[in-house]
Amino acid sequence: MEPTVNIVSRLQWGAAAPKQQKTLKGSAQRVIIHHTALLNCKGLAECKDHLISIQRTHMNQRQFDDIGYNFLVEEDGTVYEGRGWGVVGAHTKGHNGDSLGIAFMGNFNNDTPSKVALLSVKQLLLSGVSRGFLHPQFALCGHRDLGTTECPGNNLYAALPQLRSTT
Ligand SMILES: [Zn+2]
Repeated sequence: MEPTVNIVSRLQWGAAAPKQQKTLKGSAQRVIIHHTALLNCKGLAECKDHLISIQRTHMNQRQFDDIGYNFLVEEDGTVYEGRGWGVVGAHTKGHNGDSLGIAFMGNFNNDTPSKVALLSVKQLLLSGVSRGFLHPQFALCGHRDLGTTECPGNNLYAALPQLRSTT
């Protein structure tokens, strides 16, 4: 059975159109986990504002083509479409060409990731594998494994093994 995960589309959260898009070559080999390091948000209305502001910061201040991440996840497990599947992101300098960037919304130096958010990301990854967007033997790491950053925060970093396990 195809794993199901509800994804709030760009249209639903009011994303601006990307300046340009680059297609990932083949399926993504790696998943890189981030946190937004901002306050967390609750519910579509509030998260919409956060997403629009993140996208604006990424496009206007950091000169990215779009919101940097492929997907974002809220504390209640809702997944928001960032760049989406099969698109090169802008989230981990030097490592975007073969990876998928997923951000948990909140600051996980202090917050603890919720079980439902972890579960939803796991479902999202399974669905990516079954749809061919993600390599079945994908590697999963935290941003801090690949750069000088605290991202994705100590508590989320500690929870990453839960996303790697296949059960
Ligand atoms: Zn990061």
